[in-house]
Amino acid sequence: MNLNIRNAFEKPSRKKQAYEKPLKTGRNEQTEKSSTSDVHLDDMAFLPDDDNEARDEDDNLSPEVRAMMKQLERPSKVDAEPEPTCTKIYYASRTHSQLSQVLHELEKLQINLSGTSVLSLHPEASKSPPDSAKRPISLVDEDDEVTTPEVRAVSLGSRKQLCINENLKGKAGDLDEACRQRLSEKGDRRCQYLPPIEDEIRILDFRDQVLATPKDIEDLVVSGQNAQTCPYFGSRRAITQAQLVMLPYNLLLQSAARESLGIDLKDQVIIIDEAHNLISTLLSLSTIQLPLKTLTTSLHQLSIYLARFKDRLSTQNSLHLKRLVGLLDALLKYAEEWKGERNKVNPNPGPAKAKENVETMTSGELLRKLGRKVEGINLLEVEAYLKKSRIARKISGYCAKELEKAAGADPLKRAKLSRLSNTTPPLHAVESFIVALTASSDDGRVTFSMIDDQVEIKYQHLNPATYFREVVEVARSVVLAGGTMSPISDVTNQLFTWLSAEKLTTFSCGHIIPASNLQTLVVKKGPRGGDLQFKFDRRNDQALLAELGQIMLNFANVVPSGMVVFVPSYSFLHVLINAWESSGTLEKLRSKKRVFMEPQDASGVERVLREYAAEIQVPTVKAAPGSGRKAGALLFAVIGAKLSEGLNFTDDLARAVVIIGLPFANLASPELRERMQYVNRLEQSRGVKRLPGVKDAATELYENMCMNAVNQSIGRAIRHKDDWASLVLIDGRYSSPRIRSKLPKWIGESLIITETFGEVMKEMGRFYREKKSRL
Ligand code: SF4
Repeated sequence: MNLNIRNAFEKPSRKKQAYEKPLKTGRNEQTEKSSTSDVHLDDMAFLPDDDNEARDEDDNLSPEVRAMMKQLERPSKVDAEPEPTCTKIYYASRTHSQLSQVLHELEKLQINLSGTSVLSLHPEASKSPPDSAKRPISLVDEDDEVTTPEVRAVSLGSRKQLCINENLKGKAGDLDEACRQRLSEKGDRRCQYLPPIEDEIRILDFRDQVLATPKDIEDLVVSGQNAQTCPYFGSRRAITQAQLVMLPYNLLLQSAARESLGIDLKDQVIIIDEAHNLISTLLSLSTIQLPLKTLTTSLHQLSIYLARFKDRLSTQNSLHLKRLVGLLDALLKYAEEWKGERNKVNPNPGPAKAKENVETMTSGELLRKLGRKVEGINLLEVEAYLKKSRIARKISGYCAKELEKAAGADPLKRAKLSRLSNTTPPLHAVESFIVALTASSDDGRVTFSMIDDQVEIKYQHLNPATYFREVVEVARSVVLAGGTMSPISDVTNQLFTWLSAEKLTTFSCGHIIPASNLQTLVVKKGPRGGDLQFKFDRRNDQALLAELGQIMLNFANVVPSGMVVFVPSYSFLHVLINAWESSGTLEKLRSKKRVFMEPQDASGVERVLREYAAEIQVPTVKAAPGSGRKAGALLFAVIGAKLSEGLNFTDDLARAVVIIGLPFANLASPELRERMQYVNRLEQSRGVKRLPGVKDAATELYENMCMNAVNQSIGRAIRHKDDWASLVLIDGRYSSPRIRSKLPKWIGESLIITETFGEVMKEMGRFYREKKSRL
C-alpha cells in the first residue's frame, strides 16, 4: 500500500526526512473483489505490497485522509530544502550502559564543537536552512554568534527500549510490527505519541530537545514521556543534525538496521569501543539458529496465511509463497529424517558422542540434500522477495493478531502470548536463515545438531570481515578502541587483510599508573612443590585442587580487602568448591575472608556484587571480632562470564586479581573446528607461508581467543591512576614466551616468573607492605 503515513518517520533520507513518499491514489477496479471476499479490511494490512497496491485502488478513504494525501503531494518546506547536516562521529559500544558511561565522560569534557572543523555544514544547506531546522538548535557556521553549549549528541535504541506506548508494550506479538500498524491507522487508533504530519512541529520540537543536551536511552524515555512524543522516532529524527551518534553495535554493524534508521556512513567517523568484542559480535550477528520447532511453526503460519488470503494474493505473490513453502517443507523433512537416522545410530547420546550428533555442510551441499526441486530454487530470488514484500513481518503480525483474538480474556493464554512477544517471530528467523544461505559458500557453514533431543539447524558465518568491510569502505575513518585488545593480530588478520598496510595504524599505550602500582606474578609451583598446570584432563586431580586450596589460604592471609579469583569455567568452579568443602579448605578460607561465588543465573549477579562490596567496607574488628579474620572478601568468578567484563573492581574491591589456568575453548565444538579450518584456508588462499616451527593460523586463533578472555578478566582491576593491585597468573604455561607475548604490553614488561611458591609469597608480601607504608 502506498499510503505511507505509517512510514512517516521511519526511513528519513537526507532530502526528505519526515515524509518520504507522496501518497498515491488508486483506481476503483478492486471494488468487486472486496465485496466478494470474506477477508476483513483490517486483515488486508497483512497482504504483500503488490496486493495492497490493488487494495489502494478501492480504498474507502475518508475525506480527511484524502485531504492529507493532497497536502502531502505538495512539496513542503521540509521536502523542498535539505536539512542542514554535518560530519558525524558514530560511537558504538556493546551495551547502552557502556554508551551511557561515555556520555557522562563527555559531559565532563565540556567541549564546544560549534565553529570547529567537525561542524561542517552541508554547503547548500548553510545558505538557507529551512525554518524548521533553524529553531532552537544552533547549527552555526564559523561567523555565527550563536554558540552551542554542548555537543549535539543523540542515542539510538530499539523500540523495545524507547517505546512509551504502554498499551502496545504490554501486548503480545512483535512490537515493531504493532507500532507500524498503529502508525498506519487513523484517528484514535493511531499511536498518540507520534504526531501526524500536520502536527510535524511537535516532533521537530522534540528533536530539538533531544539535541539540546546529551541524553542516554533512559533520559530519552523520560523526555519522551514529558513531551508526550515518541522518543524512538524523535531520536531518529535528530540524526541529521547530530554531531555525535551513540548506538549499540548491532545498529551500526547490520546494514538492515542502518537502512531502517537512515544512517549513511559515507565519509563519517566511526569509533568502535570495547573493540575486543568486535569479531565475536560480527560473527554472532550473522549466525542464525533455526530450531525445528521454529521451522514447524513457520510452515504452519504460512499455510494459515495462504489459506486465508488465497483469493486475494496476486499470482506472483502466490508463486513466491508456494516456493517458500516448498523450501521449508523440504528442510523440515530432511531435518526429521536426519533426527531419525541419528536416533538409530546413536540412541543414547552423551557428551562423548557430541561429535557424532553434528553434521556440517556448505549451503550448496544443503540445497543438494534437499532434493532436485529445491536445488532449482534461486535463493537470491527468494531473498529479494522476502525483503521486498516484508512478508515474514506481515505473516507474523497477522498470526499474532489471530492468536490474540483467540486468547480473548483468558489470563493463562494471555500470559503465554506475553512470553511469546519477547521472542523472535518464527518467520523472521526463517527469513534470516534463507538470507544467510545466499552468502558466499566458503564464508559459512550449516550445521544440524541434536540438542536436548531436538534438532537445531544453524547457519554459522565464518568470515567476520564480510559485513564489516561494507562499513570500513565507505567511512572516512574507523577507530577500534579498547583497554585490553591484545592479542591484536586477530583483529588485523581477520578484519583487514583486504586493506593495504599503509591504511592501517595500530597504537598501544602504557598504563596510566606508575610501574610500582602493579605487580604481575606467574606461579608455576604450589606450596608442596607440585607443578601447576590446569589442563582440561587435570581439573579433577585432587592433589592439584588441594595445592590450589593451600595457595588461596596463603593469599587470603596477605591480600588486603578484596580479592577476585577467576577460574576457566563454571564446571571447574563446582569441582573446586566441592573438593574444598569436603577437605575443610573452604571453611578455613571463610575464616579469613567472606567467600562469594559468581552465580550462573544472571539475576543473582547484582545481589552478589552488592554483598561483596558491602563486606569490603566492613572494618577489620567488626568483621569478625576476636576471630583473627581479616576484613575483606574473596570472590570466585568465571573467565568470559558475567563478571569478567564491563565491571570495575576499583581500589579495595580488588587488591589482587588471580587467574587460575588458561580458558581454552572446547576443541570438540563443531563451530570452533569450522572457524579454525576457515582461518587456515583463508591464510592459504592468501599465499602466506609460515616459517617451520611456527604454529598455524588456526592454533594462533585458538590461543588468541583464550588470551583475549584472560586479558578481559585481568582488566577488571586497576581502574584509575592511583589504583594498585597484584595480578597473579596461576599456571606454568603463562611463563612460555608465546603466551606472555599475548598479554597486554603494560603487563608483559613487569612480569615476574617465580620458580617456587616461597618466592611468590615473598614478592606479594613486599608489594603489600610497600603499599601499606604509603597509605
Ligand atoms: S511510542 Fe513510538 S515506538 Fe511506541 S508505538 Fe508509538 S510511535 Fe511506535
